[in-house]
Amino acid sequence: MNRRPLIAGNWKMFGLAADLSEMEGLAPHAARLTGLDIVLCPPATLIAQAAWRLKGGVMGLGGQDCAPAQQGPHTGDVSAAMLKDAGAAWVILGHSERRRDHGESDALVRAKADAALAAGLTPILCVGETIEERKAGAADSVVTRQLARSVPDGAPASLVIAYEPVWAIGTGLTPSAAEIVEIHAVVRAALMARFGADGAAMRILYGGSVKPANAGEILALDGVDGALVGAASLKAADFGAIMEAHPAARAGN
Ligand code: PEP
Repeated sequence: MNRRPLIAGNWKMFGLAADLSEMEGLAPHAARLTGLDIVLCPPATLIAQAAWRLKGGVMGLGGQDCAPAQQGPHTGDVSAAMLKDAGAAWVILGHSERRRDHGESDALVRAKADAALAAGLTPILCVGETIEERKAGAADSVVTRQLARSVPDGAPASLVIAYEPVWAIGTGLTPSAAEIVEIHAVVRAALMARFGADGAAMRILYGGSVKPANAGEILALDGVDGALVGAASLKAADFGAIMEAHPAARAGN
């Protein structure tokens, strides 16, 4: 199955208006690399400005979270419709930092994914095991359980899964190539068992300490449809180099 590669950047809680120039530095890469989808997820406060500055470009914008409710008395929350209205087309959901910092359960992530889909956003839904779970040999079962509980029934083929081992995020550590291939196959099997052809078409990204130096190897791995990039997405030089390291870029598209 030919799945269009996707490289998404997650700025986390970094970035002020002055940093949007870094985003503009990515536009020429995104315009040239027509074989890839490129998405940047800045803080919610910057989405509207970013959308305005990127107008007419091919780079997509996403939020980093959304509320499960459509609207209502939920002070401080941002709804999926608000993200869409600001110019986002995507939203990261269930990131391990939100599961850790805000106690987000799989059920809540699922409700958020439902809200995102209802508002017309494409979820990038994160799953991944802790180091203790990996050491206990439970990585596959943890990820399979997270998928079963957090991906909504009837999820469309456009929904994206990001496999992000918690211990690889922001640590400089990455699983071996064989481990990434193995667990991506586990994710694919679970998606196909539940969603059939749609499950075969869903993209599965790898996330966790992707940087220019390792992007070429990781992005070429069997079953890896792209990457979710944190720290290295903050600088145009690094994020641009990661995009350029994709095999599709080297093949001239
Ligand atoms: C992330 O935040 O999703 C991530 C993968 O972070 P980093 O690339 O910094 O490890």
